[in-house]
This record gives sequence, C-alpha cells and structure tokens, in this order.
Amino acid sequence: MSLLERLQQFTQQHVTTDTDSMAPLDAVIEHLYSATEGSIKGRRTILVGTNNYLGLTFDNQCINANHQATRTYGTGTTGSRLANGSYAGHQELEQELAVFYGVDHSIVFSTGYTANLGMISALVSKGDTIILDEHCHASIYDGCKLSGADIIHFRHNNAEDLDKRLRRLGDKTSTTLVIIEGIYSMLGDRGNLREIVAVKQKYDALLLVDEAHSLGVLGESGRGLSQESGVEEHVDFITGTFSKSLAGIGGFCVSQHPELEVIRYTSRPYIFTASPSPGTIASIRAALEIIRNNPCLREQLWENASWLYNGLKSLGYDLSPEVSPVIAVNVGERVNALTMWKKLFDRGVYVNLVMPPATPNSKCLLRCSVSAAHTHAQLNVVLDAFASFQTPTLKKQLA
Ligand code: PMP
Repeated sequence: MSLLERLQQFTQQHVTTDTDSMAPLDAVIEHLYSATEGSIKGRRTILVGTNNYLGLTFDNQCINANHQATRTYGTGTTGSRLANGSYAGHQELEQELAVFYGVDHSIVFSTGYTANLGMISALVSKGDTIILDEHCHASIYDGCKLSGADIIHFRHNNAEDLDKRLRRLGDKTSTTLVIIEGIYSMLGDRGNLREIVAVKQKYDALLLVDEAHSLGVLGESGRGLSQESGVEEHVDFITGTFSKSLAGIGGFCVSQHPELEVIRYTSRPYIFTASPSPGTIASIRAALEIIRNNPCLREQLWENASWLYNGLKSLGYDLSPEVSPVIAVNVGERVNALTMWKKLFDRGVYVNLVMPPATPNSKCLLRCSVSAAHTHAQLNVVLDAFASFQTPTLKKQLA
C-alpha cells in the first residue's frame, strides 16, 4: 500500500462513518458569544469540551494585556529564544511562575506538548529509565520516545505496582524518572500523588508531575495536585500548559533544582521552535494574576463540576470515577458514541468525542469539560440533552 493509500484507508476507517453525516473535525466554531457559547454550523451551541476551566478566554484584563503587548512588541517573536533572543515578557513570566509556585526556577515553552517533550527528552536519554502511569497523555509518551530511554508503564494510580517495578531496577533507580499527571486528561481523576511520592523517595528516583489540567483547578492557591496533596517539596519537576485554565497557549516547567536552567541549552523542543508571542505571554501573566487573586473562580468551577457530574449520575450514566471538571461518560460502542455525539450536537451541545486508542481501557467516551463560566441554566440544557437518550433502546445499548 502506498503512503497516500494508507492515508485514504485511515480516512475511510476513522473519519467518516455510515451513520454520521458530520465528522467531529467538521465542528468549526464560526463565532464565539462567550467563553461557553459559540456558533457551529450556524447553530448556537453550548461548549462543554473546551478545557476553559476558569472561563478566562474573554477576560478583559487578559485581552487588554494581550492587545497592549502586541502593539508594543509586535505580533510574533519570529524565532527561538536561544537563537533569536528572549523578550522581557518571557523572563518576567518565568519569574512570576517561580514566585507563584514558591520555587527558584522556571522555563517557558511554546506549548504544553513541547514542555513535556522538552523536559523528558532533556532529563533522560538512552540507558536511563522512565516509569510512567499508563494513563499519561500522548505528549508524555512522545517525550519518552524522543528521549531514547527505556520505557516502563505502571498500572494506573497503583503505587504498589510502581514500587514493584522500581525494585526490579536495582541500582538503576538513580537514573530513573517517574511521571504522572495531576488530573488525568481523559477520565478526570486525580493522580495518587502522596503514595507515589513515598515510593519515589524510597528508591531515590526523580518525579515529574504534569499539572496541565490541575493548574488553577486544585490546591489552596491553584498550584495543582502537588499543592493539594501537601507534597510540593518532593515533586522534582512540574510541567503544565497555558492552554487550559490560563486561556492562552504555551507551556512551562518549574523546579527547585538549579539544573533546570541547563535545559535551555540541551532541550531540542525548547531550542528549535519559536518562542511564544508577546501578546500570548502578556495575557498569560494577566491570567496568572487572576488565578492568584480570585479563588472564587475555583470554587465556582467545582460547584459546576458537581452539578453536571451529579446530574449525569442521576440519569444513570456510567461516569469517570470522581467529581472533576473533566467528566467522561462511557458510551460503549463506537457507533453509539458517534450517534450520541451527533445528537448532542443537534441539540446545541458540544462535547469531546474520544475513541480508542486515545482512551484508556479502549472505551468510547463523551468527554465533558466544565468551566467556572458555565451557568446552571447551560448545564441544565446539557443534562436535558443527555436525558433525551434515556429511551429503552439506547439504555440497552449503553448497558
Ligand atoms: N499534558 C496534558 C495532560 C494534556 O492534556 C495536554 C493537552 N490536552 C498537554 C499536556 C498539551 O498541552 P498543549 O495543548 O498546551 O500543547
């Protein structure tokens, strides 16, 4: 089969289906009315698949900061920081992130994806070992592959399994990196951080936690699961993204280890890509300030998450394990998932359709992400749309 034929086969198998006249990639947002509502295919649609956890995409302070920085510094940096130079904003944001996390070192990357790629591939290399939770995000897997290190998975959130695998490594644990997430991106459950920290301490391995979905969401001041679990000083590296609660684009790593600074000279995904634009950096700085000063946004987010989770639960749906701003509805077979996704869309509700292999346990999921900016009225529309599937046939299919 030729290269192009392989792509054609993929299209037939994965992009179009008999039951579906509209594929998920056709869901183009033509207009946005707010952080939680837009127009797709001419229909007013409630957005429940955005990761816009604090609803800051339309915040005036963020927009003004972006606007002003763009006027002052231009639209783009047109190159990487090592080759073309840093802007003052990059360094100021790095200082502010370090202060926010209470550490001495911080690096900004161009996306959350490159933060994981850049950190993992610079920390470990051929001959070293990575042990990662089996539910980790694709960017973590890709970073592992790029590093050339040996890759071992441990069972999701199972500290005993991690312990067993570290024990087997003997004296290689000093060149081992353990990786987990704060809130897992597909099922929305928290990492089992306290127990995992205890195990990594026992074997003297390094620990990296990706707080992409937990920054601004967990912890007394929004620093994530590491803060909520009270183990921040034992987490060696925290990575994260600016594309979710901070409502922009970019990524970062913070650490108490001074060695983090060396990464700037050794990490290919840091060196060989353009740095974030001045406008983006300015809006992220404004968003970080909002997170610091407005814990009420986090409270509202959790209130909304409980509202939707409990509502779906009472409709009888098989949900992800805990109340969380990421709520995964297990809908069984692929054809069922596509039908439901399309019907929700027809009722003005946009959720994420997630199919294997992107899902853990090979389940088809309708993934909802809740925002502090959702109103109860909007969430009730979402619940009504899900309630419409409670016909005997669909109930049987879902069983
Ligand atoms: N880590 C996790 C856990 C993610 O879910 C994502 C994106 N969904 C990323 C990293 C990558 O972030 P970004 O979109 O900023 O590249």
